[in-house]
Amino acid sequence: MKEPLLKVEGLKKHFPVKKGALGRVKGHVKAVDGVSFEVWPGETLGVVGESGCGKSTTGRLLMRLLESTEGKVSFAGRDLTALGSDEMRKMRRDIQMVFQDPYASLNPRHTIGKILEEPLLVHGVKDPNERKRKVREFLGIVGLSGYHATRYPHQFSGGQRQRIGIARALMTNPKLIIADEPVSALDVSIQSQVLNLMQDLQREFGLTYIFISHDLSVVRHISDRVAVMYLGRIVEIAESGRLYEMPLHPYTQALLSAVPVPDPEFVRDQIVLEGDIPSPADPPPGCPFHSRCPFRMDICKSVVPALKEQETGHSVACHLYQEEASGNDNKTLVTEGSL
Ligand code: SF4
Repeated sequence: MKEPLLKVEGLKKHFPVKKGALGRVKGHVKAVDGVSFEVWPGETLGVVGESGCGKSTTGRLLMRLLESTEGKVSFAGRDLTALGSDEMRKMRRDIQMVFQDPYASLNPRHTIGKILEEPLLVHGVKDPNERKRKVREFLGIVGLSGYHATRYPHQFSGGQRQRIGIARALMTNPKLIIADEPVSALDVSIQSQVLNLMQDLQREFGLTYIFISHDLSVVRHISDRVAVMYLGRIVEIAESGRLYEMPLHPYTQALLSAVPVPDPEFVRDQIVLEGDIPSPADPPPGCPFHSRCPFRMDICKSVVPALKEQETGHSVACHLYQEEASGNDNKTLVTEGSL
């Protein structure tokens, strides 16, 4: 049976909040609060949610750019959380990251050639001719030219800089790329070019992606499955088409109701949520979404709903679909096609 490339179990990141001259810990910001999922070889898992939901922190925890508070991350059968720093550095050959702002992540004083050679040097490619050959090769692969290697980041457009960011991620022949809002800073016309490039590269190199974004339309375009995060937790995860056709969680329904549909005949009622996303330093008890949920019940204020499978591959964390809340008739409020 096929094994997942990445398996995440109970991942948490609680940042301490310190106060006073002695820096005593007064509480914790629960940025990621018990996230579990799997990513299969060759697929794209989209991770969506509003700003502050923990999606970017999750990406950084997977790369161990941040250390987790609790939980386990296994990559190709190896427990990443147990690796020493040297072993983790070697492992980063196989897991690379593409960032939102390519300009901020490219050293402005280095030529593109030097920037692209760096990962090869870190991973022991000692022959300078071999490094230069690979730089030219990968510039071509992302749609740039060999002569661009002598230029500096400020000489490129935003879309070209993101192509360079993608080329840098590819230099070590990774298996998994974690892309954190990779097209959010780009014009819409350029976004689709970069997304198409990522899809072509996925087919060519057999890549697996985790695609993090706040934009549901972008995530839909590229993802096989989508996980929706709210306040540090996954509240729904499903195959992409299924999630967009029949979202189960009230939060997913509200997010999707705000996405424009390119069909003038299709009228969708927008669900406007009350209030703002609560602070992860002081999350509400029970269901983290209960303070904004139009369907909340008494149980929602005290019991955290577990993420449970409702149909094959489609899991949701909501009491509307769970037995402990059976007897409520709120389920009928949310039906297929009602959005
Ligand atoms: Fe709403 Fe309750 Fe479901 Fe949370 S568990 S999303 S509050 S119905």
